[in-house]
Amino acid sequence: MPASDLPNAAGPGPGSPATLTTLQEQAMRNALDASDNAIVMSNTDRRVVYVNAGFTRLFGYPAYEVLGKRLSETLFDARAEPGILDYIRHTIETEGKARVETLLYGKTGQPRWVSMVINASDANVGGTGGTITVLTDITLTKMHEVLQKRVLEGMVNELPLTELMTLVCREVERIAPEVTASILAVDDAGCLRPLAAPGLSPEICEKINGVRMGPFTGSCGTAAFRGQPVLTTDIATDPLWDNYRALFASTGFKACWSSPIMDHRGKVIGTFAFYFRENREPDELHRRLVDVGLHLCALAIERATAAARIHQLAFFDGLTGLPNRSMLRSSAGRALESLYQDKRPGALLFINLDRFKQVNDTLGHAAGDALLCEVATRLTQALRARDLIGRLSGDEFALLLSECATGDAIHAAQRILDDLARPMRLPGHEYIAQASVGIAMYPDDGTTIDTLLRHADQAMNQAKSEQRHSLQLFSPEMNRRAQERARLERDLRHALAERRLTLHYQPQVLSTSPRTLHGVEALARWNHPERGAVPPSQFIPVAEEAGLIHELTLWVLEEACTQLALWRASGRDVRAVAVNLSGHSFHHPEFAQQISDTLARHQLHAGDLMLEITESVMMDARAETRANIAALHSKGFKLSLDDFGTGYSSLSYLHRLPISELKLDMAFVRDLTNSSTARALTVSVLSIAHSLEMVVVAEGVETAGQQQWLQAHGCPVMQGFLFGHPMPPGELEAWLDAAPRSGR
Ligand code: C2E
Ligand code: CA
Ligand code: CA
Repeated sequence: MPASDLPNAAGPGPGSPATLTTLQEQAMRNALDASDNAIVMSNTDRRVVYVNAGFTRLFGYPAYEVLGKRLSETLFDARAEPGILDYIRHTIETEGKARVETLLYGKTGQPRWVSMVINASDANVGGTGGTITVLTDITLTKMHEVLQKRVLEGMVNELPLTELMTLVCREVERIAPEVTASILAVDDAGCLRPLAAPGLSPEICEKINGVRMGPFTGSCGTAAFRGQPVLTTDIATDPLWDNYRALFASTGFKACWSSPIMDHRGKVIGTFAFYFRENREPDELHRRLVDVGLHLCALAIERATAAARIHQLAFFDGLTGLPNRSMLRSSAGRALESLYQDKRPGALLFINLDRFKQVNDTLGHAAGDALLCEVATRLTQALRARDLIGRLSGDEFALLLSECATGDAIHAAQRILDDLARPMRLPGHEYIAQASVGIAMYPDDGTTIDTLLRHADQAMNQAKSEQRHSLQLFSPEMNRRAQERARLERDLRHALAERRLTLHYQPQVLSTSPRTLHGVEALARWNHPERGAVPPSQFIPVAEEAGLIHELTLWVLEEACTQLALWRASGRDVRAVAVNLSGHSFHHPEFAQQISDTLARHQLHAGDLMLEITESVMMDARAETRANIAALHSKGFKLSLDDFGTGYSSLSYLHRLPISELKLDMAFVRDLTNSSTARALTVSVLSIAHSLEMVVVAEGVETAGQQQWLQAHGCPVMQGFLFGHPMPPGELEAWLDAAPRSGR
């Protein structure tokens, strides 16, 4: 620049002369040129009269290309921030100076963030109406700021990881147009998974996907493997690229610089790579971009991994890895929506393993877990891509089959049953799984997932109760029954809580003297406010299934003892009250103690009660049951085996049980007159019981013929309508008062 172009500048100090010597001027010029800042002076006409060497360094324009022109023509092109020039001019006119930060583009198109300070000059400096502008390169800081801000904003807005990573690549490419960026994740198996590479073709990304990192796997796979940046300045010759050169042949890339992305523990979780179309090394800008980029990528990938883990924990079953109930419900909601739109049918299959509890109890929990995992695997294998599966709880699974008509659903359910029945290896055992499958169809049996689940569940229960290892379609009748059952359960719960059940007592008489009482059997009665009398054959099973039976049993014991104590107090000699005990109660470790406590509260003794249990209780091998039976026996309680002859017990082991009474089931009594088998069996029961010193009570004696036969064959005690129906306490008292005093 000719010296005369430099306008008169301010002197070196206050009060100095207005003109500089040539020497001073040269020193001044050198100082300005050495500055990192770009300095521009413009005259009244806004034309550039001076730029320092810093300007050329920053924007790439030599002085002669800008002198005499307006700065706005050179630096503020169409990409400039709209309105910025007007703002600067206006502010200078009103305030004498302006300060802005903006993005400008250099001669080669390279973007430069600058901080501009523009001062209006006076006559002494630059001439009136002119300006002195100092531009400071803040690209590095600014790019850092912008990139970070954008990506962090994206994270806050929960952009998917691939979108975030694409954003990083695009921002980097905008700031450094000579760069093509790519971001790959490294999965737990050490394989590369492209996250974003907007400048690479989808084919290339596909080929890279799944490549295992290693010592010779291009720049990225090698960088991930080494845990260190890998710079390839010549892809054409670098041996690391031997296997990938052909893949990238059409891209024109000559150099690649890839850096590993590390998580906070220092584990490689990805790579961040810059491709160049020249054989080159990264410059300072690139290094800064990678510094920022690595940090952001690590943050975003770790965050996404954490989110995926949280999602996994919240929506997937930890044992089998299948979606859990909430996950299934939400994805099923979407699947049903699309079936609705396409007017297609679907099927919900509800699968429950048969006897799963038994596996857990007898083979152990490890075997139970292995069984569930194997079932999950087999069920999953049977699925098509559009089907859904979930583990609802314990041994319950559900499948939602899309575009599936009733026939297909039955077919699918049958195939599942077959699949499950193939032998499976559990720890230490070979096992054949059985299951019950209920099917509810969309839209006929329900249009929401909750209805379908409920109906398929009902169908499954039906299948289970009819035949193990079978399938059942839902029917409205089933639904009616299920609702009925639910209502009954609710009402029973209330009745029990409000003590609205009562006990009736049926006399058990000596066969030698049918008006003499052996004891009474307490039988529960429920008078429903709307339905009237609900028979125990209906509500006892409901109580058992609903988990109410133990509470009911405790109430019966309490009530029976209260009544017995009252009878005793009124001088009525009732020898004993028999109560029916459910097997469930024997699973409560404190049960035996609860019985003796109840007796004690009424000053009664073990001999005052007869505890009726069924064969299933006798056969129950559970520790709690055995302990309760032993405890009752040692406390002197008498056990009576109810419904004898109907179960699977054989006469041969009776002697090993702590039983003092057998109740011959009424089915035998009914058949006495017409079946020789019934008679033969009864005779042997009577003789074995006699030799084991057990009392036999014949149930359901209705006719004089039955009574005579039983009496003739030595049956000591009878119970049945012939002698008395179960009756409320008042009626029983009348019955007692009409009879001679009991006694043996
Ligand atoms: P179960 O223990 O075998 O009781 C005898 C049943 O036979 C009673 O039916 C009784 O009314 C009926 N019965 C008595 N004599 C005759 C007769 O001559 N002919 C006929 N056809 N039936 C007769 P109920 O009271 O309907 O009870 C049915 C079942 O419900 C009982 O059978 C028992 O298993 C259960 N149950 C009743 N009350 C209770 C209770 O408090 N707790 C428990 N766990 N179960 C109970
Ligand atoms: Ca009974
Ligand atoms: Ca019975």
